[in-house]
Amino acid sequence: MEKYKGLISLILVIVLMFVVVFGVRTVSQNKPAESSDTAGVSVGVGGDNVNLSGVKDGVYTGEAQGFGGSVVATVTISGGKITDIQVTGDSETEGLGSVAVEKIPAKVLASNSLQVDAVSGATISSNAVLDAITAALASAGLTPDMLSGDGASASSVEKKNEVVEADIVVIGGGGAGMSSAITAKQAGADVILIEKMPYLGGNTTKATGGMNAAETHYQAEQGIEDTIDQFVEDTMVGGKEINNIDLVRTMAENSSDAIDWLDELGAPLPKVSFSGGATNARIHSPEDGSGVGEYLVKAFSDKLDEMQIPVYLDTKATELIVEDGKVTGVIAESEDCNYTFKAKAVILATGGFGANEEMYCTYRPDLKGTVTTNAPGATGDGIVMAQSLGADLVDIEQIQLHPTVEQATSMLITEGVRGDGAILVNQSGKRFINEMKTRDVVSAAELEQEGQYAYVIFDQNLRDGLKAIEKYVKNNIVVEAATIEELAKQIDMDPATLSETLKTWNEAVANQNDEEFGRDTGMEHDLSVAPYYAIKVAPGIHHTMGGIKIDVKSQVIKTDGTVIPGLFAAGEVCGGIHGANRIGGNAVVDIVVFGRIAAESAWDYIQ
Ligand code: ADP
Repeated sequence: MEKYKGLISLILVIVLMFVVVFGVRTVSQNKPAESSDTAGVSVGVGGDNVNLSGVKDGVYTGEAQGFGGSVVATVTISGGKITDIQVTGDSETEGLGSVAVEKIPAKVLASNSLQVDAVSGATISSNAVLDAITAALASAGLTPDMLSGDGASASSVEKKNEVVEADIVVIGGGGAGMSSAITAKQAGADVILIEKMPYLGGNTTKATGGMNAAETHYQAEQGIEDTIDQFVEDTMVGGKEINNIDLVRTMAENSSDAIDWLDELGAPLPKVSFSGGATNARIHSPEDGSGVGEYLVKAFSDKLDEMQIPVYLDTKATELIVEDGKVTGVIAESEDCNYTFKAKAVILATGGFGANEEMYCTYRPDLKGTVTTNAPGATGDGIVMAQSLGADLVDIEQIQLHPTVEQATSMLITEGVRGDGAILVNQSGKRFINEMKTRDVVSAAELEQEGQYAYVIFDQNLRDGLKAIEKYVKNNIVVEAATIEELAKQIDMDPATLSETLKTWNEAVANQNDEEFGRDTGMEHDLSVAPYYAIKVAPGIHHTMGGIKIDVKSQVIKTDGTVIPGLFAAGEVCGGIHGANRIGGNAVVDIVVFGRIAAESAWDYIQ
């Protein structure tokens, strides 16, 4: 027997390793806070009470892979129950992931179960948090089924009914809704904001490029010549002239003021550069190169807090209340409450419908199965609610494809990458289009290439200047190589062709003359600083340009041409501003300008 001891020990070690690696879903590590001398059970700082399941009270940690980084859960078990869960995850701190880090542990604690729903829009982070908690439990010798709860949440409890009154109710907490709420409050209104998701931001969070604005003080300070008229013309040309020119002019004329307003809010956009479809350097972005959406959403939500504007998260508007032909409120619901929000005016800022495949296929059956870059809340609710009151729709079939979407993650590669000098090549390693053309043109050109995809190619110099790239790297969608030839090999491209393409391009930059495709912007830097990078991209649904018909005061217009009293709309929920193709940088100026106008008009209406 003695001679088999070593072999038996080895088998036991292998079995144990197998259980640790494969027994706990995708968990990469599983480390207790303090190890114990009791086999298989880790004992934490809390003491040694043995609970009914035979697990000692204590503090246990577990780790899992999240949205591009590790998530660590520290679980306190006491009396057979989880009494505390702390989760940290550096890479989950931005945007939706942070909501999962906050919400999932609370749900697990409340239900004493791991059978809880993921936070919508943050599935990867939610699962990572659950995996980390599972790992911590495993280190305590517990399995999920040993927990006493069944995940039942507040939904099984009878709902309360609440009536809330305000001057103005804003539906939707993206950029347009938050701009409206802040402006209404600044004007003196008693305003509340309702948002159906557990977090603010909507599609706005995903805006990475910047905000177009003309005749701004930043342009003047940087010696950039630009005019409101040129801005109007570029937007009309980009939109194939089907845009409503009055709305476009209103947007352009108010754009510089909107930049000043953002300055006052503490959200300056001082960096001015070129973007596709713009004649002059007009796209304004944050100094530090961060994505404009996340930057503004943070600034706006801080301002909502500072101004003590009530925000109802997880609260979905389902119906507009109409009395004597006027909109006087909103019916909404949360998990535990049915709300009647009574108001003197309502602002619809619910965004577009790019995340509602059924809805966009109604208008554009050809888009079935196309990936979307949209936030999960972009389901067209506001359009449906307004339509039920007779609102007219414009350009509803105009849906924008973005040419640079990484298909596995649906992650959008910002136009800023091309604006800062990146090129697009096909699988043969050749450029095929002026990369700065409008989104529809570049998307169409990509769909003509072999495999209907392309690669965005850039260098270290570009990466250093654009923070957004780090997010792509974190998500493992960037191929990196020390030389152009090496990069080509990694993406199955002919090295000589890609080298030749880069050589020709760098000469074009040096001469400021792109003989092949006539590109004349985004040519400040060549691509010559190693390492080199590539991201594989194809078109994805990006923006629904059509929507509710509004006038220049953001009033909602009915099919008979009259306005719906008390109802205003702003942002992606509206149509007419972008025509048949939205220019990069115009979504952000649209939401800020019309968000503010909707609030001002609503306040005037109340007066
Ligand atoms: P915009 O750019 O026009 O501001 P966003 O997509 O950024 O549009 O924001 C719209 C917001 O409206 C999203 O956060 C979305 O979740 C929210 N929303 C959509 N439908 C509803 C609804 N029925 N009730 C409350 N909020 C909604």
